[in-house]
Amino acid sequence: MEAPAVQTDTARQILFDRITLDALRQSLRGPLVTPGDPAYEEVRRVWNGLIDERPALIARCLGVADVVAAVNFARTRNLLLSVRGGGHNVAGKALCDDGLVVDLSLMRAVRVDPVRRIVQVQAGATLGDVDHETQAFGLAVPVGLVTATGIAGLTLHGGMGWLTRQYGLTLDNLVAVDIVTAEGHWHKASEEENADLF
Ligand SMILES: Cc1cc2nc3c(=O)[nH]c(=O)nc-3n(C[C@H](O)[C@H](O)[C@H](O)COP(=O)(O)OP(=O)(O)OC[C@H]3O[C@@H](n4cnc5c(N)ncnc54)[C@H](O)[C@@H]3O)c2cc1C
Repeated sequence: MEAPAVQTDTARQILFDRITLDALRQSLRGPLVTPGDPAYEEVRRVWNGLIDERPALIARCLGVADVVAAVNFARTRNLLLSVRGGGHNVAGKALCDDGLVVDLSLMRAVRVDPVRRIVQVQAGATLGDVDHETQAFGLAVPVGLVTATGIAGLTLHGGMGWLTRQYGLTLDNLVAVDIVTAEGHWHKASEEENADLF
């Protein structure tokens, strides 16, 4: 089946449609940043300073509900969408010109369960955030070498670092994930639950 055409100009039109823009803003707990906002230039920057993408809408999510709202908003309007974790992808894949960015970089909570030796990490956390919390319990996750890299993007592509030779990739140590699909549905996935997704 042929993929539907992406109407990247629609996102720009929404900037001039106050009612639609307000509806998106009100559906989010986190801030919605658009061109002209004081925070825009800072928020659209990624690690690679050569990247100069100008998204029309940046949804700075604070939780799953915000992610679902942003994904549904983009899908129902056929907008170009990108997902931002730590923003370290050198090609700038976290951003998209004229589309909607689901920006997870404010979601940085990390919670260690020292008894089960498991750490729960939100998708905007950096490797430094994870190390900071796990080290307090004398624990570590095999992650990458650079502290500011995002744990989500690193895990999705494998994750290699100092501990890999002894303990495997970050991905090898993944126990479970929360997923919001392109349909805007939330699922938990692990080897026991939704194993195909996992
Ligand atoms: C200076 C530097 C050092 C690095 N060192 C290492 C290293 O030591 N070991 C190693 O393995 N890798 C390393 N990398 C590579 C890095 O791990 C990858 O570029 C990784 O994808 C970055 O993840 P991020 O979340 O920071 O980036 P982002 O740019 O935010 O995301 C990367 C990609 O993953 C997608 N993505 C991110 N989060 C989600 C999510 N929650 N859901 C769906 N898609 C998502 C984004 O859309 C994008 O396509 C390094 C990169 C840099 C620039």
